[in-house]
Amino acid sequence: MTDQRAEQILARLTELRADDAPTRGGRILSYVYDPGLAVVDELARRAAQQVQHVNGLDPTTFGSVARMEADVIGFAAGIVHGDDAVGVVTSGGTESCLLAVKSARDRWRARHREATGMPSIVAPTTVHAAFHKAARYFDLRLDLVPVGEDGTVGADDLLARCSGDTALVVVSAPCYPFGVIDPVADVAPRAAALGIACHVDACIGGWVLPFWGEGLPRWDFRVPGVTSMSLDAHKYGYSPKGVSVLLFADRDAKRAASFATTDWPGYPVVNPTMLGSRSATALAAAWAILEYLGADGLTGLTARTRQATETLAGVVAGIEGLRVAGAPSGPLFAVRTDPEAAAGRGVDPHQWSDRVRELGWTLQPQPGLRQHGGPALPPTTHLTVTPVTAGIVDALAAAMTRAADDVRGRPPIDLSALPDALPALRSDAPLDSAAATEILAALGLAGDGPALPDHLAPVMALLEVVPAPRAQELLTELLARLNER
Ligand SMILES: *Cc1c(COP(=O)(O)O)cnc(C)c1O
Repeated sequence: MTDQRAEQILARLTELRADDAPTRGGRILSYVYDPGLAVVDELARRAAQQVQHVNGLDPTTFGSVARMEADVIGFAAGIVHGDDAVGVVTSGGTESCLLAVKSARDRWRARHREATGMPSIVAPTTVHAAFHKAARYFDLRLDLVPVGEDGTVGADDLLARCSGDTALVVVSAPCYPFGVIDPVADVAPRAAALGIACHVDACIGGWVLPFWGEGLPRWDFRVPGVTSMSLDAHKYGYSPKGVSVLLFADRDAKRAASFATTDWPGYPVVNPTMLGSRSATALAAAWAILEYLGADGLTGLTARTRQATETLAGVVAGIEGLRVAGAPSGPLFAVRTDPEAAAGRGVDPHQWSDRVRELGWTLQPQPGLRQHGGPALPPTTHLTVTPVTAGIVDALAAAMTRAADDVRGRPPIDLSALPDALPALRSDAPLDSAAATEILAALGLAGDGPALPDHLAPVMALLEVVPAPRAQELLTELLARLNER
Protein backbone atom coordinates (compact mmCIF):
# COMPACT_ATOMS: atom_id res chain seq x y z
CA MET A 1 0.00 0.00 0.00
CA THR A 2 1.52 3.32 -1.00
CA ASP A 3 -1.28 5.77 -0.33
CA GLN A 4 0.32 8.29 1.99
CA ARG A 5 -2.73 9.18 4.01
CA ALA A 6 -3.42 5.54 4.61
CA GLU A 7 0.17 5.06 5.77
CA GLN A 8 -0.16 7.95 8.20
CA ILE A 9 -3.34 6.54 9.64
CA LEU A 10 -1.69 3.19 10.21
CA ALA A 11 1.29 4.89 11.80
CA ARG A 12 -1.10 6.60 14.18
CA LEU A 13 -2.58 3.22 15.12
CA THR A 14 0.92 1.91 15.75
CA GLU A 15 1.39 4.80 18.17
CA LEU A 16 -1.88 4.05 19.93
CA ARG A 17 -0.92 0.42 20.27
CA ALA A 18 2.44 1.30 21.77
CA ASP A 19 0.77 1.99 25.12
CA ASP A 20 -1.07 -1.33 25.19
CA ALA A 21 0.14 -4.26 27.19
CA PRO A 22 2.09 -6.55 24.84
CA THR A 23 -0.17 -9.31 23.50
CA ARG A 24 2.68 -11.63 22.61
CA GLY A 25 5.65 -12.84 24.59
CA GLY A 26 4.00 -13.95 27.82
CA ARG A 27 4.11 -10.70 29.78
CA ILE A 28 0.36 -10.79 30.54
CA LEU A 29 -1.05 -13.79 32.38
CA SER A 30 -4.73 -13.26 31.51
CA TYR A 31 -6.73 -12.10 28.48
CA VAL A 32 -4.30 -13.37 25.84
CA TYR A 33 -3.30 -16.89 24.89
CA ASP A 34 0.03 -17.13 23.16
CA PRO A 35 1.07 -20.41 21.58
CA GLY A 36 4.50 -18.92 21.01
CA LEU A 37 4.27 -19.85 17.31
CA ALA A 38 4.62 -17.03 14.79
CA VAL A 39 3.21 -19.22 12.02
CA VAL A 40 -0.12 -19.48 13.85
CA ASP A 41 -0.50 -15.71 14.01
CA GLU A 42 0.41 -15.30 10.37
CA LEU A 43 -1.98 -18.07 9.34
CA ALA A 44 -4.81 -16.47 11.32
CA ARG A 45 -4.12 -13.09 9.73
CA ARG A 46 -4.23 -14.44 6.21
CA ALA A 47 -7.32 -16.58 6.82
CA ALA A 48 -9.17 -13.62 8.30
CA GLN A 49 -8.20 -11.49 5.34
CA GLN A 50 -9.75 -13.97 2.91
CA VAL A 51 -13.18 -13.54 4.48
CA GLN A 52 -12.84 -9.86 5.31
CA HIS A 53 -16.15 -8.87 3.76
CA VAL A 54 -18.15 -12.04 4.24
CA ASN A 55 -21.37 -11.74 6.22
CA GLY A 56 -21.89 -14.76 8.44
CA LEU A 57 -25.55 -13.76 8.72
CA ASP A 58 -26.38 -15.88 5.72
CA PRO A 59 -24.64 -19.22 5.27
CA THR A 60 -26.76 -19.92 2.19
CA THR A 61 -25.13 -16.97 0.42
CA PHE A 62 -21.72 -17.61 2.00
CA GLY A 63 -21.43 -21.38 2.10
CA SER A 64 -17.86 -21.21 3.39
CA VAL A 65 -19.24 -20.09 6.74
CA ALA A 66 -21.34 -23.20 7.27
CA ARG A 67 -18.47 -25.40 6.11
CA MET A 68 -15.92 -23.85 8.47
CA GLU A 69 -18.44 -23.91 11.33
CA ALA A 70 -19.10 -27.60 10.74
CA ASP A 71 -15.37 -28.33 10.91
CA VAL A 72 -14.77 -26.30 14.08
CA ILE A 73 -17.87 -27.73 15.80
CA GLY A 74 -16.89 -31.24 14.75
CA PHE A 75 -13.38 -30.83 16.13
CA ALA A 76 -14.72 -29.44 19.40
CA ALA A 77 -17.29 -32.22 19.77
CA GLY A 78 -14.64 -34.84 19.07
CA ILE A 79 -12.22 -33.73 21.77
CA VAL A 80 -14.94 -33.66 24.45
CA HIS A 81 -16.50 -36.97 23.35
CA GLY A 82 -19.76 -35.39 22.23
CA ASP A 83 -20.22 -38.00 19.54
CA ASP A 84 -23.74 -36.91 18.69
CA ALA A 85 -23.35 -33.31 19.81
CA VAL A 86 -24.43 -30.45 17.57
CA GLY A 87 -23.44 -26.85 18.02
CA VAL A 88 -23.13 -23.24 17.04
CA VAL A 89 -20.17 -20.91 16.68
CA THR A 90 -20.56 -17.72 18.68
CA SER A 91 -18.58 -14.53 19.15
CA GLY A 92 -17.09 -15.62 22.47
CA GLY A 93 -17.58 -17.32 25.79
CA THR A 94 -20.12 -14.84 27.06
CA GLU A 95 -22.35 -15.35 24.04
CA SER A 96 -22.03 -19.14 24.37
CA CYS A 97 -23.06 -18.94 28.03
CA LEU A 98 -25.94 -16.56 27.27
CA LEU A 99 -27.27 -18.90 24.61
CA ALA A 100 -26.93 -21.99 26.81
CA VAL A 101 -29.12 -20.17 29.33
CA LYS A 102 -31.61 -18.99 26.72
CA SER A 103 -31.98 -22.53 25.41
CA ALA A 104 -32.50 -23.98 28.88
CA ARG A 105 -34.93 -21.23 29.83
CA ASP A 106 -37.06 -21.67 26.72
CA ARG A 107 -37.16 -25.43 27.14
CA TRP A 108 -38.10 -25.03 30.80
CA ARG A 109 -40.90 -22.65 29.80
CA ALA A 110 -42.15 -25.12 27.21
CA ARG A 111 -42.39 -27.77 29.93
CA HIS A 112 -43.93 -25.42 32.51
CA ARG A 113 -46.58 -23.59 30.56
CA GLU A 114 -48.59 -22.91 33.70
CA ALA A 115 -45.67 -21.50 35.68
CA THR A 116 -45.86 -17.87 36.74
CA GLY A 117 -42.56 -17.66 38.65
CA MET A 118 -39.07 -17.05 37.35
CA PRO A 119 -36.96 -20.06 36.48
CA SER A 120 -33.58 -20.33 38.16
CA ILE A 121 -29.98 -21.13 37.36
CA VAL A 122 -28.20 -23.09 40.11
CA ALA A 123 -24.42 -22.68 40.16
CA PRO A 124 -21.45 -22.38 42.52
CA THR A 125 -20.33 -18.85 43.53
CA THR A 126 -17.33 -19.35 41.28
CA VAL A 127 -19.46 -19.59 38.12
CA HIS A 128 -18.38 -17.09 35.48
CA ALA A 129 -19.90 -13.61 35.50
CA ALA A 130 -21.42 -14.41 32.09
CA PHE A 131 -24.12 -16.35 33.96
CA HIS A 132 -24.91 -13.32 36.11
CA LYS A 133 -25.32 -11.47 32.86
CA ALA A 134 -27.52 -14.20 31.38
CA ALA A 135 -29.74 -14.19 34.46
CA ARG A 136 -30.19 -10.43 34.23
CA TYR A 137 -30.67 -10.30 30.48
CA PHE A 138 -33.07 -13.21 30.30
CA ASP A 139 -34.92 -12.85 33.62
CA LEU A 140 -33.82 -15.88 35.55
CA ARG A 141 -32.95 -16.05 39.22
CA LEU A 142 -29.30 -16.91 39.78
CA ASP A 143 -29.13 -19.18 42.81
CA LEU A 144 -25.50 -19.19 43.91
CA VAL A 145 -24.23 -22.03 46.07
CA PRO A 146 -21.28 -21.15 48.32
CA VAL A 147 -17.91 -22.77 47.70
CA GLY A 148 -15.21 -23.57 50.23
CA GLU A 149 -12.22 -21.28 50.67
CA ASP A 150 -10.44 -23.53 48.20
CA GLY A 151 -13.05 -22.89 45.51
CA THR A 152 -14.64 -26.35 45.62
CA VAL A 153 -18.37 -26.94 45.77
CA GLY A 154 -20.23 -30.00 47.03
CA ALA A 155 -22.41 -31.84 44.52
CA ASP A 156 -24.97 -32.38 47.29
CA ASP A 157 -25.09 -28.66 47.99
CA LEU A 158 -25.79 -27.92 44.33
CA LEU A 159 -28.43 -30.64 44.05
CA ALA A 160 -30.11 -29.49 47.26
CA ARG A 161 -30.89 -26.17 45.57
CA CYS A 162 -32.48 -27.77 42.52
CA SER A 163 -36.26 -27.70 42.31
CA GLY A 164 -39.01 -27.61 39.74
CA ASP A 165 -38.05 -23.99 39.08
CA THR A 166 -34.52 -24.87 38.06
CA ALA A 167 -33.95 -24.48 34.33
CA LEU A 168 -30.21 -25.08 34.38
CA VAL A 169 -27.37 -26.22 36.62
CA VAL A 170 -23.97 -24.85 35.64
CA VAL A 171 -20.63 -26.42 36.52
CA SER A 172 -17.25 -25.32 35.23
CA ALA A 173 -14.22 -27.12 33.87
CA PRO A 174 -12.41 -25.34 35.33
CA CYS A 175 -13.88 -22.27 37.04
CA TYR A 176 -12.02 -19.08 36.27
CA PRO A 177 -11.33 -17.66 39.76
CA PHE A 178 -9.65 -20.73 41.28
CA GLY A 179 -8.96 -23.05 38.35
CA VAL A 180 -10.90 -25.85 40.05
CA ILE A 181 -12.93 -28.38 38.06
CA ASP A 182 -16.43 -28.61 39.56
CA PRO A 183 -17.90 -32.07 40.38
CA VAL A 184 -19.42 -32.61 36.93
CA ALA A 185 -19.62 -36.40 37.29
CA ASP A 186 -21.59 -36.13 40.54
CA VAL A 187 -23.90 -33.37 39.38
CA ALA A 188 -24.89 -33.99 35.75
CA PRO A 189 -26.43 -37.49 36.14
CA ARG A 190 -28.42 -36.43 39.19
CA ALA A 191 -29.63 -33.25 37.47
CA ALA A 192 -30.70 -35.40 34.52
CA ALA A 193 -32.69 -37.65 36.87
CA LEU A 194 -34.56 -34.53 37.98
CA GLY A 195 -35.13 -33.47 34.37
CA ILE A 196 -32.80 -30.47 34.73
CA ALA A 197 -30.34 -29.38 32.04
CA CYS A 198 -26.65 -29.24 32.98
CA HIS A 199 -24.20 -26.93 31.26
CA VAL A 200 -20.46 -27.51 31.57
CA ASP A 201 -18.71 -24.18 31.21
CA ALA A 202 -15.49 -25.28 29.55
CA CYS A 203 -14.98 -21.86 27.97
CA ILE A 204 -11.43 -21.76 29.22
CA GLY A 205 -10.76 -25.47 29.71
CA GLY A 206 -12.40 -26.88 26.61
CA TRP A 207 -9.45 -26.63 24.27
CA VAL A 208 -6.78 -27.51 26.84
CA LEU A 209 -8.09 -30.09 29.33
CA PRO A 210 -8.62 -32.77 26.63
CA PHE A 211 -4.87 -32.67 26.03
CA TRP A 212 -3.75 -32.20 29.64
CA GLY A 213 -3.01 -35.83 30.44
CA GLU A 214 -3.45 -37.78 33.64
CA GLY A 215 -5.06 -36.70 36.86
CA LEU A 216 -8.25 -34.87 35.94
CA PRO A 217 -11.74 -35.68 37.24
CA ARG A 218 -14.34 -36.53 34.57
CA TRP A 219 -15.94 -33.44 33.09
CA ASP A 220 -16.89 -33.96 29.43
CA PHE A 221 -19.77 -35.51 27.45
CA ARG A 222 -18.83 -38.97 28.67
CA VAL A 223 -20.60 -37.96 31.86
CA PRO A 224 -24.29 -38.75 31.36
CA GLY A 225 -26.57 -35.78 31.83
CA VAL A 226 -24.29 -33.10 30.38
CA THR A 227 -26.65 -31.25 28.06
CA SER A 228 -24.48 -28.40 26.79
CA MET A 229 -20.90 -27.19 26.88
CA SER A 230 -19.05 -24.01 25.91
CA LEU A 231 -15.45 -24.02 24.59
CA ASP A 232 -13.78 -20.77 23.57
CA ALA A 233 -11.52 -21.08 20.56
CA HIS A 234 -10.19 -17.60 21.35
CA LYS A 235 -8.63 -18.96 24.54
CA TYR A 236 -6.70 -22.24 24.31
CA GLY A 237 -7.67 -22.57 20.63
CA TYR A 238 -5.23 -19.64 20.13
CA SER A 239 -7.59 -17.78 17.77
CA PRO A 240 -7.96 -14.04 17.64
CA LYS A 241 -10.85 -12.79 19.77
CA GLY A 242 -14.38 -13.43 18.60
CA VAL A 243 -14.91 -17.17 18.47
CA SER A 244 -16.35 -19.81 20.78
CA VAL A 245 -18.22 -23.07 20.30
CA LEU A 246 -21.44 -23.97 22.10
CA LEU A 247 -22.27 -27.67 21.93
CA PHE A 248 -25.60 -29.32 22.69
CA ALA A 249 -26.19 -33.00 23.33
CA ASP A 250 -29.60 -32.66 21.74
CA ARG A 251 -30.73 -31.05 18.49
CA ASP A 252 -33.82 -29.55 20.11
CA ALA A 253 -31.70 -27.76 22.68
CA LYS A 254 -29.72 -26.19 19.86
CA ARG A 255 -32.96 -25.19 18.13
CA ALA A 256 -34.10 -23.53 21.37
CA ALA A 257 -31.00 -21.32 21.39
CA SER A 258 -31.82 -19.85 18.02
CA PHE A 259 -34.10 -17.04 16.91
CA ALA A 260 -36.24 -16.83 13.80
CA THR A 261 -38.90 -14.49 12.54
CA THR A 262 -40.84 -14.20 9.33
CA ASP A 263 -43.08 -11.61 10.88
CA TRP A 264 -41.69 -8.47 9.35
CA PRO A 265 -41.59 -7.17 5.79
CA GLY A 266 -37.87 -7.78 5.26
CA TYR A 267 -35.87 -10.94 4.62
CA PRO A 268 -36.81 -14.01 6.66
CA VAL A 269 -34.54 -13.97 9.71
CA VAL A 270 -32.90 -17.05 11.19
CA ASN A 271 -30.16 -16.27 13.73
CA PRO A 272 -28.61 -19.28 15.43
CA THR A 273 -26.70 -16.87 17.69
CA MET A 274 -27.29 -13.40 19.11
CA LEU A 275 -25.88 -11.25 16.35
CA GLY A 276 -27.43 -10.45 12.99
CA SER A 277 -24.74 -9.50 10.52
CA ARG A 278 -21.57 -11.06 11.76
CA SER A 279 -17.96 -11.18 10.83
CA ALA A 280 -16.48 -14.47 9.64
CA THR A 281 -12.90 -13.33 10.27
CA ALA A 282 -12.42 -14.88 13.69
CA LEU A 283 -14.16 -18.05 12.53
CA ALA A 284 -11.86 -18.36 9.52
CA ALA A 285 -8.83 -17.72 11.73
CA ALA A 286 -9.97 -20.34 14.24
CA TRP A 287 -10.73 -22.81 11.50
CA ALA A 288 -7.30 -22.36 9.92
CA ILE A 289 -5.46 -22.58 13.24
CA LEU A 290 -7.31 -25.73 14.31
CA GLU A 291 -6.73 -27.34 10.89
CA TYR A 292 -3.05 -26.46 11.21
CA LEU A 293 -2.49 -27.55 14.80
CA GLY A 294 -4.87 -30.50 14.96
CA ALA A 295 -5.03 -32.61 18.11
CA ASP A 296 -1.28 -33.31 17.91
CA GLY A 297 -0.39 -29.65 17.82
CA LEU A 298 -2.72 -28.88 20.74
CA THR A 299 -1.22 -31.79 22.68
CA GLY A 300 2.30 -30.42 22.22
CA LEU A 301 1.28 -26.89 23.22
CA THR A 302 -0.60 -28.19 26.24
CA ALA A 303 2.48 -30.08 27.43
CA ARG A 304 4.38 -26.78 27.50
CA THR A 305 1.52 -25.10 29.33
CA ARG A 306 1.36 -27.88 31.91
CA GLN A 307 5.08 -27.81 32.51
CA ALA A 308 5.04 -24.02 32.98
CA THR A 309 2.00 -24.22 35.27
CA GLU A 310 3.65 -26.79 37.49
CA THR A 311 6.88 -24.82 37.62
CA LEU A 312 5.08 -21.61 38.60
CA ALA A 313 2.91 -23.33 41.20
CA GLY A 314 6.15 -24.68 42.67
CA VAL A 315 7.63 -21.20 42.68
CA VAL A 316 4.62 -19.85 44.59
CA ALA A 317 4.86 -22.72 47.06
CA GLY A 318 8.46 -21.66 47.72
CA ILE A 319 7.64 -18.00 48.38
CA GLU A 320 7.22 -17.22 52.06
CA GLY A 321 3.86 -15.59 52.75
CA LEU A 322 2.07 -16.77 49.60
CA ARG A 323 0.43 -19.97 48.52
CA VAL A 324 -1.66 -21.36 45.69
CA ALA A 325 -5.35 -21.20 46.63
CA GLY A 326 -6.92 -24.66 46.83
CA ALA A 327 -5.97 -27.47 44.47
CA PRO A 328 -6.51 -26.33 40.87
CA SER A 329 -6.47 -28.71 37.88
CA GLY A 330 -5.35 -27.28 34.57
CA PRO A 331 -3.61 -24.10 33.49
CA LEU A 332 -5.15 -21.53 35.84
CA PHE A 333 -4.46 -20.85 39.46
CA ALA A 334 -4.96 -18.19 42.08
CA VAL A 335 -2.40 -17.04 44.64
CA ARG A 336 -3.42 -15.98 48.14
CA THR A 337 -1.77 -14.94 51.36
CA ASP A 338 -0.49 -17.99 53.21
CA PRO A 339 -2.80 -18.13 56.24
CA GLU A 340 -0.05 -19.94 58.12
CA ALA A 341 2.61 -17.31 57.48
CA ALA A 342 4.48 -16.14 60.57
CA ALA A 343 3.28 -12.81 62.00
CA GLY A 344 4.44 -9.94 59.82
CA ARG A 345 5.61 -12.33 57.06
CA GLY A 346 2.44 -12.60 54.99
CA VAL A 347 2.25 -11.22 51.44
CA ASP A 348 -0.88 -9.33 50.39
CA PRO A 349 -1.75 -10.58 46.89
CA HIS A 350 -2.98 -7.20 45.66
CA GLN A 351 0.17 -5.33 46.62
CA TRP A 352 2.19 -8.23 45.32
CA SER A 353 0.55 -8.13 41.89
CA ASP A 354 1.00 -4.35 41.72
CA ARG A 355 4.69 -4.83 42.44
CA VAL A 356 4.96 -7.66 39.89
CA ARG A 357 3.41 -5.28 37.38
CA GLU A 358 6.04 -2.63 38.12
CA LEU A 359 8.61 -5.29 37.33
CA GLY A 360 7.05 -5.77 33.90
CA TRP A 361 4.53 -8.60 34.24
CA THR A 362 0.76 -8.28 34.38
CA LEU A 363 -1.09 -10.58 36.74
CA GLN A 364 -4.80 -10.22 37.50
CA PRO A 365 -6.09 -9.16 40.92
CA GLN A 366 -9.30 -10.80 42.18
CA PRO A 367 -11.01 -9.13 45.15
CA GLY A 368 -12.02 -11.09 48.23
CA LEU A 369 -15.71 -11.96 48.31
CA ARG A 370 -18.25 -12.42 51.05
CA GLN A 371 -20.54 -15.34 50.25
CA HIS A 372 -24.10 -15.81 51.38
CA GLY A 373 -24.09 -18.76 53.75
CA GLY A 374 -20.48 -19.69 53.18
CA PRO A 375 -16.94 -18.72 54.09
CA ALA A 376 -15.45 -15.43 52.87
CA LEU A 377 -13.26 -16.01 49.84
CA PRO A 378 -9.77 -14.57 50.15
CA PRO A 379 -8.34 -11.87 47.90
CA THR A 380 -6.18 -13.53 45.26
CA THR A 381 -4.05 -12.94 42.20
CA HIS A 382 -5.02 -14.91 39.11
CA LEU A 383 -2.60 -16.44 36.61
CA THR A 384 -3.57 -17.98 33.28
CA VAL A 385 -0.58 -19.92 31.96
CA THR A 386 -0.08 -20.39 28.20
CA PRO A 387 2.51 -22.26 26.11
CA VAL A 388 4.67 -19.17 25.72
CA THR A 389 5.03 -19.00 29.50
CA ALA A 390 7.30 -22.04 29.34
CA GLY A 391 9.97 -19.99 27.58
CA ILE A 392 10.00 -17.11 30.09
CA VAL A 393 9.26 -18.98 33.27
CA ASP A 394 12.57 -18.22 34.99
CA ALA A 395 12.32 -14.47 34.48
CA LEU A 396 8.71 -14.47 35.66
CA ALA A 397 9.59 -16.57 38.70
CA ALA A 398 12.35 -14.12 39.58
CA ALA A 399 9.91 -11.19 39.37
CA MET A 400 7.32 -13.02 41.48
CA THR A 401 9.90 -13.82 44.14
CA ARG A 402 11.39 -10.36 44.19
CA ALA A 403 7.99 -8.66 44.35
CA ALA A 404 7.06 -10.79 47.35
CA ASP A 405 10.32 -9.82 49.06
CA ASP A 406 9.51 -6.16 48.39
CA VAL A 407 5.99 -6.17 49.89
CA ARG A 408 6.21 -8.93 52.53
CA GLY A 409 4.71 -7.88 55.83
CA ARG A 410 2.70 -4.96 54.42
CA PRO A 411 -0.83 -5.29 55.76
CA PRO A 412 -3.67 -5.36 53.23
CA ILE A 413 -5.10 -1.93 52.45
CA ASP A 414 -8.05 -1.48 54.77
CA LEU A 415 -10.85 0.76 53.53
CA SER A 416 -13.51 -0.62 55.83
CA ALA A 417 -14.04 2.83 57.40
CA LEU A 418 -14.79 4.33 54.01
CA PRO A 419 -18.53 3.57 53.74
CA ASP A 420 -19.04 5.37 57.07
CA ALA A 421 -17.04 8.35 55.90
CA LEU A 422 -18.83 8.50 52.55
CA PRO A 423 -22.52 7.70 53.16
CA ALA A 424 -23.25 7.77 49.41
CA LEU A 425 -21.40 4.47 49.25
CA ARG A 426 -24.00 2.84 51.47
CA SER A 427 -27.29 4.24 50.19
CA ASP A 428 -29.56 2.10 48.06
CA ALA A 429 -30.75 4.88 45.76
CA PRO A 430 -29.48 4.31 42.24
CA LEU A 431 -26.65 6.63 41.26
CA ASP A 432 -26.84 8.65 38.10
CA SER A 433 -23.67 9.45 36.20
CA ALA A 434 -23.15 12.80 37.92
CA ALA A 435 -23.52 11.36 41.42
CA ALA A 436 -21.24 8.44 40.58
CA THR A 437 -18.65 10.88 39.26
CA GLU A 438 -18.78 12.83 42.50
CA ILE A 439 -18.03 9.71 44.50
CA LEU A 440 -15.22 8.72 42.15
CA ALA A 441 -13.76 12.20 42.51
CA ALA A 442 -13.95 11.97 46.31
CA LEU A 443 -12.02 8.72 45.99
CA GLY A 444 -9.44 10.32 43.72
CA LEU A 445 -10.55 8.21 40.77
CA ALA A 446 -12.01 10.87 38.51
CA GLY A 447 -10.24 13.99 37.37
CA ASP A 448 -10.98 16.11 34.34
CA GLY A 449 -9.81 13.54 31.86
CA PRO A 450 -9.87 9.78 31.92
CA ALA A 451 -8.30 8.61 35.16
CA LEU A 452 -7.06 5.11 35.69
CA PRO A 453 -5.07 4.35 38.80
CA ASP A 454 -1.53 2.97 38.51
CA HIS A 455 -2.06 0.66 41.41
CA LEU A 456 -5.01 -1.68 41.60
CA ALA A 457 -4.65 -2.68 45.25
CA PRO A 458 -6.66 0.35 46.48
CA VAL A 459 -9.35 -0.34 43.88
CA MET A 460 -9.61 -3.97 45.01
CA ALA A 461 -9.76 -2.80 48.64
CA LEU A 462 -12.61 -0.49 47.65
CA LEU A 463 -14.52 -3.28 45.94
CA GLU A 464 -14.13 -5.43 49.03
CA VAL A 465 -15.93 -2.92 51.27
CA VAL A 466 -18.53 -1.30 49.02
CA PRO A 467 -21.90 -3.05 48.53
CA ALA A 468 -21.89 -4.84 45.16
CA PRO A 469 -24.63 -2.77 43.44
CA ARG A 470 -22.81 0.43 44.32
CA ALA A 471 -19.43 -0.95 43.28
CA GLN A 472 -20.94 -2.00 39.96
CA GLU A 473 -22.29 1.50 39.30
CA LEU A 474 -18.98 3.11 40.16
CA LEU A 475 -17.00 0.79 37.91
CA THR A 476 -19.50 1.34 35.11
CA GLU A 477 -18.98 5.08 35.46
CA LEU A 478 -15.20 4.76 35.60
CA LEU A 479 -15.05 2.64 32.47
CA ALA A 480 -17.73 4.56 30.54
CA ARG A 481 -15.63 7.68 30.89
CA LEU A 482 -12.67 6.12 29.12
CA ASN A 483 -14.09 6.83 25.67
CA GLU A 484 -16.05 9.96 26.50
CA ARG A 485 -14.74 13.47 26.29
C1 LIG B 1 -13.56 -16.61 29.57
C2 LIG B 1 -14.65 -17.33 30.25
C3 LIG B 1 -16.00 -17.06 29.97
C4 LIG B 1 -16.46 -15.88 29.14
O1 LIG B 1 -15.83 -15.78 27.96
P1 LIG B 1 -15.53 -14.47 27.13
O2 LIG B 1 -14.91 -15.07 25.93
O3 LIG B 1 -14.61 -13.59 27.91
O4 LIG B 1 -16.81 -13.79 26.82
C5 LIG B 1 -16.94 -17.87 30.56
N1 LIG B 1 -16.59 -18.85 31.40
C6 LIG B 1 -15.31 -19.09 31.74
C7 LIG B 1 -14.99 -20.20 32.71
C8 LIG B 1 -14.29 -18.34 31.17
O5 LIG B 1 -13.02 -18.56 31.51
